[in-house]
Amino acid sequence: MISSLRKNAIANIGARKSCSEDLGKEEPITQIYGEDVFNMKTMKDYLPKPVYKKLMATIRNGSTIDPAIADDVANAMKRWAISKGASHYTHWFQPLTGSTAEKHDSFIEPDFEGGVMMDFSGKSLIKGEPDASSFPSGGIRATFEARGYTAWDPTSPAFIKRSSKGAVLCIPTAFCSYTGEALDKKTPLLRSIQVLSVQAKRVLACFGEDCDGMVIPSLGPEQEYFLVDRELYLTRLDLVQTGRTLFGNVPAKNQQMEDHYFGVIRSRILDFMNDVDQALWRLGIPAKTRHNEVAPAQFEIAPIFEALNLAVDHNMIVMEVLRQTAEKHGLVCLLHEKPFAGINGSGKHNNWSLVSPDGKNLLDPGCSPHENALFLTFLSCIIRAVDKHADILRSAVAYAGNDHRLGANEAPPAIISIFLGDQLTEIIEQIEKGSAKSTRDGGTMHIGVDALPLLPKDATDRNRTSPFAFTGNKFEFRAAGSSQSCSGPNIVLNTIVAESLDELATEMEKIPAKQRLDALQGILQKIIKQHKKVIFNGDNYSKEWEKEASKRGLPNVKTTLQALKVMTQPKTEKLFEKYKVLSKVELHSRYEVYVESYTKTVLIEGKVARDIASTIVMPAALKQQILLAKAVSSLDAAKVKTGSAAIRSRLSDVSELIEKTMESVDRLDKKIEAHDPEAVLKEMLELRWAVDGLESMVDDSNWPLSKYAELLFIY
Ligand code: ADP
Ligand code: MG
Repeated sequence: MISSLRKNAIANIGARKSCSEDLGKEEPITQIYGEDVFNMKTMKDYLPKPVYKKLMATIRNGSTIDPAIADDVANAMKRWAISKGASHYTHWFQPLTGSTAEKHDSFIEPDFEGGVMMDFSGKSLIKGEPDASSFPSGGIRATFEARGYTAWDPTSPAFIKRSSKGAVLCIPTAFCSYTGEALDKKTPLLRSIQVLSVQAKRVLACFGEDCDGMVIPSLGPEQEYFLVDRELYLTRLDLVQTGRTLFGNVPAKNQQMEDHYFGVIRSRILDFMNDVDQALWRLGIPAKTRHNEVAPAQFEIAPIFEALNLAVDHNMIVMEVLRQTAEKHGLVCLLHEKPFAGINGSGKHNNWSLVSPDGKNLLDPGCSPHENALFLTFLSCIIRAVDKHADILRSAVAYAGNDHRLGANEAPPAIISIFLGDQLTEIIEQIEKGSAKSTRDGGTMHIGVDALPLLPKDATDRNRTSPFAFTGNKFEFRAAGSSQSCSGPNIVLNTIVAESLDELATEMEKIPAKQRLDALQGILQKIIKQHKKVIFNGDNYSKEWEKEASKRGLPNVKTTLQALKVMTQPKTEKLFEKYKVLSKVELHSRYEVYVESYTKTVLIEGKVARDIASTIVMPAALKQQILLAKAVSSLDAAKVKTGSAAIRSRLSDVSELIEKTMESVDRLDKKIEAHDPEAVLKEMLELRWAVDGLESMVDDSNWPLSKYAELLFIY
């Protein structure tokens, strides 16, 4: 019986011994760091010098690999992988499901004497051909022509994935159809990085800064997650099937004491975190920060930022390592955006900036007037991009799980606005008025001639309610969901900023080089006048902001289906087509895939809710009803009046909730049948209300589902 499962789970956790036997036995970090990555150092060791040089140039310029060196690279990769114990290789890619995909092939090749050789050709490295019929394509590829191709992405190094009994060489790849359309998240991301680089370099050239190489966006994604004990997790069909609890009352003590945030990390969790860090370091992932988050049982991990494409791949691996390491520790890692109603959900803060070919952070205000001018130029372009395309940016975080979080007073609202901090806002306002005044000495400042006052980093970092915040030398997009791939938001961000930089460069290039700095003030003034409405430094959670934003004409799109619609609008098609990030066909196919995935997710949740209510909750509730009914009739038989009215009233409350539950289940069934996700979600709330009511009335020893207090506090 499930309710005994719940009791057993608690007993087992109580009896559990700490699993930290290998305390202190960890190898030095500098030795293990990157040991499972075919990184530059390893390539240098394994590749002939000319091949190594050619490969480095390919990586630096983002060009395609010369087939002439592919065999050498493949051979080196194979030798290295085998030395690490690998028997298989896989083209590791990121289909539109939002997770990663892999199909393993062993290196073996018959030697025709009854044995095998280990083989891996350049052809197999560069291109794979998995049967792709079961990946979502949004209609691009009919299943009868199900061929898909994977193409090696040399900007993200190959790595080894280990299990207790073997290892696989993973080669990061892009995934496209027979006709060349992107079927994955990496392809458009790489395209968007390319186009952003081209446009940013044009702007740099206007400032007299021509240099070789690319402007590369940087990304540091902060990842939030929950950990629950596996035994308790297994008593919850909703967690197992949907990743979130569909029922459950918020416990008396939840997060109101604010004692979990940055609190002392429990030893079981610390053991888990140590294992996670070790695994990530072996994979060359620079895990840096770890801490307890606001909600009980909620945590965060953040790496040091890296080149965007690599950081996105690494975040996919981080999520996988979190899940797998949790399992080893008898825990389950919940990456869902809202695993518990009434308790803070999880997000992924997308820290983004731009790095020039000579390694300068273009969003660093710098100290010289020249650097300041460049900074204000990029800043203004980003403001224009976000204001112009707030709706597209919003669509990139539209996701069933995220709907429970955005705008729920714990996460940024669905209104996209930019936080700049008071000082920077003042400077922006002065540019708008015609000249920027230094806030330090009160004199008049000319862009490119005078220096900006020093912007204190801390002062810009304190508004936690903004969805898009400038935090000293980077922008932090905070609306992304914890389980989402970072690709989507960054494809949009790169493309809209590329467009804005393109517009600016086009304007600047028309002006003779010597007069450009003088003209800049006027150009930025125009941009700010038009787009400053997107800047908001106040409390994004407040009702007043919602009103104010609507006055300013900022979109406030609350649900996934509404938010995704912008993907089918001509302005979006034009934008992505112009910069060759997504063709119209690719964009539409994505729209189809995301809408379908949303619908499927909600319908699955609806079915699980129905099943739990009918087959797990109802039996327990009926037992309670019978118990109370028996008590009433016993009291009546014994002619005891005292207390009988109270029990009768209890019985009627329980009976009413049982009735409401059954009625709601019937309605839910119809809405599932009608394939109407929004109606299903609404009915699930009705059902939840009844079931949660029963939770607080049914004998605790008969309640079959682990309660929030247990899931959040017993581990
Ligand atoms: P918090 O937002 O919690 O205050 P930090 O300021 O420490 O945290 O940074 C959060 C993340 O931002 C980290 O992953 C960090 O590496 C990343 N980050 C810092 N600088 C940059 C940058 N220039 N580009 C992209 N990410 C950055
Ligand atoms: Mg942050």
